[in-house]
Amino acid sequence: MSTRTIQVTDALHGYLLRETLREPELLARLREETANMPNSNMQISPEQGQFMRLLVELGGVQRALEIGVFTGYSSLSVALALPPGGRIVACDVSQEYTSVARRYWNEAGVADRIELRLAPAAETLGRLVEEGALESFDFSFIDADKRNYDIYYERSLQLLGRGGLIAIDNALWGGRVADDSVQDEDTRAIRALNAKIASDARVSMSMVPIGDGLLLARKR
Ligand code: CA
Repeated sequence: MSTRTIQVTDALHGYLLRETLREPELLARLREETANMPNSNMQISPEQGQFMRLLVELGGVQRALEIGVFTGYSSLSVALALPPGGRIVACDVSQEYTSVARRYWNEAGVADRIELRLAPAAETLGRLVEEGALESFDFSFIDADKRNYDIYYERSLQLLGRGGLIAIDNALWGGRVADDSVQDEDTRAIRALNAKIASDARVSMSMVPIGDGLLLARKR
């Protein structure tokens, strides 16, 4: 029973949340508000938010990148785990969704830690490189349009210092990565990046089956 990852049944998932979830009240409220919005499935799960806060603490993260903000659950999670003086550069294209995020960042008192750049993330990341931000970040959370995942991964590798951690969301894509009959562009992009990172000597890596799959890659 311990030679493979356990199957998370509804009952087990309920237990996990009930007995082990630590979710600050503000995050719970943001999750509830987002649940009533279109595309609410783009929000990460609360146990994944908790896991990411732990990763940020473990890594002693000072400067984080977020690629894909949506309504801000993950950025708020990361911001709450940052030490004083910690910073996030957050990339998104949606004024509407990020206005929800801003409201919660303000209420949490972390708005001054988060610099939101409203533009296509590939442009923002390219600009950061031009601005001389190479190797100046230590965490990158990638959770945006899947067909550009490879660009976001490569830019993150440039922008992270040695030991920096890249966390890639939706790496198991609702199970579609394992279904050969699914051949749409998004699914193929995720499959291709998973395969590339698995054999990428520039990083240490592990696929973590939490939420919709979180692929972790640590820059060597
Ligand atoms: Ca996601």
